[in-house]
Amino acid sequence: MSDLHPDQYNIAGKKLDCPICNHDCFTIRHALLNTRATTFLGFDFLNKKADNYVCQKCGHIMWFLPPER
Ligand SMILES: [Zn+2]
Repeated sequence: MSDLHPDQYNIAGKKLDCPICNHDCFTIRHALLNTRATTFLGFDFLNKKADNYVCQKCGHIMWFLPPER
């Protein structure tokens, strides 16, 4: 479900830095957004996997929805 090994990551060719504390070490989690709530609210476009990057210094979470391929 999750990879708890802290590491540095690149998004779209740029090194990922925390916008809050400028830390560069994250753990990554994969969230499945396919929930009854999103369907009920009409957010069907959210019914796919998102990548969550969790800052290991301040805990800030950054969400990324990978583009459709
Ligand atoms: Zn941070």
